[in-house]
Amino acid sequence: MSTDAWHIDEEDLREYAAGTAQPPWLWSTEAHLDACAHCRRRLAAAVGPAATHAGWARLDAELDAPRPGALETLLVRLGLAPHTARLLACTPALRRSWFTAVGLTLAVSVAAAHVAREMTVPMPLLAIAPLLPLIGVAISFGPHVDPSYELAVVAPMDTFRLLLLRCAAVLTATTALTGVASVTAPEFGPVTLGWLAPSLALTLLSLVLTPRFGPFPAAGAVGVGWLVLLVATVHRGTGESVLFTASGQAGLAAVAAVSALALWRARAAFDTDRRPGRAGDPGPRRAR
Ligand SMILES: [Zn+2]
Repeated sequence: MSTDAWHIDEEDLREYAAGTAQPPWLWSTEAHLDACAHCRRRLAAAVGPAATHAGWARLDAELDAPRPGALETLLVRLGLAPHTARLLACTPALRRSWFTAVGLTLAVSVAAAHVAREMTVPMPLLAIAPLLPLIGVAISFGPHVDPSYELAVVAPMDTFRLLLLRCAAVLTATTALTGVASVTAPEFGPVTLGWLAPSLALTLLSLVLTPRFGPFPAAGAVGVGWLVLLVATVHRGTGESVLFTASGQAGLAAVAAVSALALWRARAAFDTDRRPGRAGDPGPRRAR
């Protein structure tokens, strides 16, 4: 029902249907079509049912398409394949909630190091920072916590490669955040960067143990081992640990290197069942 005295003439309607109508005429045609059922019927008759259905299908697909997030868009721009970027963007340890938790933990660690004035090394930061990528990598695997798990299993990429990609992403993110935190404690000197070698060593070591024990037990055992090692090596008087001297750092770097080698040699274990931590499990993938 229209109150307009005029209707769109045949030629303009054909141009609009063909997508060749130009502004400003395009705009007034569209405004008129919006208000006039008669011209909408004429337009439908002019384009035919096939074109109408194709239009609906395009609209439907557009509405259903998942919107890539900022991280995914950035990764694609950096040159990653779109499906790789999606898998990385789905990594639980790369979400905002995780970043917030890591940021808060680091802030508290640095604040604790500042408050305890007798400290000669920022021990809270050095003790806690290596655990962050360890936890981040552990929560990035396993079907219970990973919404992209099914995607990861069916994706045209082997599990080991995905594992390395995600670990690299998690390590890069936590290392960047911890680096920023370290800058806020300059009075301690280079020892503030003592978390870097254990971060690598702990993460790689837990990955080596993952095919046998699963991501959470492996990360838990390595994390507890790290804290026990710290408590055992911290000097009661000075609060320093041999782990953050040159020789301790070299030892931790060696652990990281040996773990990387062992991980590479054990890479087949990640692909036999396509599921870290459940190698050889022949049962159904889901009990639901
Ligand atoms: Zn009309």
